[in-house]
Order: sequence, then C-alpha cells, then structure tokens
Amino acid sequence: MVFPEPLARLIRNLARLPGLGEKSATRLALYLLRRPPEEVFELAESLKEMREKVRLCEKCFNFSSGPRCDICQDPERNPRLVCVVEDPAALASVEASGVFRGLYHVLHGLLSPRDGIGPKEIRVSDLLERVRREKIEEVLLALSPTVAGEATASYIAEILKDYPVKVTRLACGVPMGMEIKYADRITMKRALEARQPL
Ligand SMILES: [Zn+2]
Repeated sequence: MVFPEPLARLIRNLARLPGLGEKSATRLALYLLRRPPEEVFELAESLKEMREKVRLCEKCFNFSSGPRCDICQDPERNPRLVCVVEDPAALASVEASGVFRGLYHVLHGLLSPRDGIGPKEIRVSDLLERVRREKIEEVLLALSPTVAGEATASYIAEILKDYPVKVTRLACGVPMGMEIKYADRITMKRALEARQPL
C-alpha cells in the first residue's frame, strides 16, 4: 500500500462519487491533505450537518431543514395555486423566474414504465391528497417536455379530472425535449405567464 490507511480510506470514499475515478479521487485527497486543518474540518462538518439536517418538507416534499420548507411557510404565497415539478432542481428553475407566487409539489421523479417507475414510485398520491385537503384551485404542471414528462402530465391530468381543480401547464416556451432545470430565466418567465389549460 502506497498510502497510509486513513488516506487510502478517503480516496476509496471519494472515488465512489459520480464523475470521480481513482485518479481524480487521489488528486483531491492529496489536495485536502495540504489544506489547513480548519478548512478540512469545516468541509467534513458541513457534509455531516447536511446529511443529518436536510430532509423533505412534509407538505410539498421540497428539501427542508425543518418539518416545513421556507416556501410552504411563506404567508405571502398563494396556497390555492400549486406548481408540480419533477425534482428540487426544477423547482429552483421555476423559482428563479421570480414570477411564480404559489406553492409547489415535488414528485421526485417522472413516470417511466420502461424503467419500472410507476405512480407508486413518485409522489402523485400525495398530490391527490393535497388537492382533496387544501382547497387547491389550480395545479400548474411544470414538467419537462420529454416523453416521461408528457406521460406524467397526462397521468396527473387524468386522475385530477374528477376534482374541482383547474389543471394548467407551462406554455411552449420551454423547447421540446429540454429538461425544466436547464431552462433559462426569461424562457421560464414567459412559459409561466402564458400557461395554458390542459
Ligand atoms: Zn414545502
């Protein structure tokens, strides 16, 4: 063994991260070893704190450090308007447009029967539950115009058909096949403002 065990252990752990192979993990570990101890302890502590404290909001399933996320707790937002997104990255993209003032519902995935992802694997029944309980007036589907996004949008529109709720979707500003999280601010703003009934 070239490296002492504590260093070898760090390299093994880093090498498991996406995009890092054995070589870049070694380079990163050696870099960290040269940094001042406080800086490395701060990094280690932030990893620990992130894993211990970040969880899903009990209402919208966005990331949160408490039972409810900041957005759900914001009294300035319209609780009758709920924007459905695939994941927290897509939520961040809608939020960055600065025009949406409702709440969110994060599905944590899109329907994809080919990959074995059915309605039970994503948070759709929780959405139905919210529509029943929270007097939601409009569900805005901000799902990527991809095959999985379209399939998920149709499925949600179908299950909400019998509820007194308006279902809308983003206008076609977001190019077909593009994932919502990559949409720029202006595109997202236009798509939100020109949303259409489904
Ligand atoms: Zn929330």
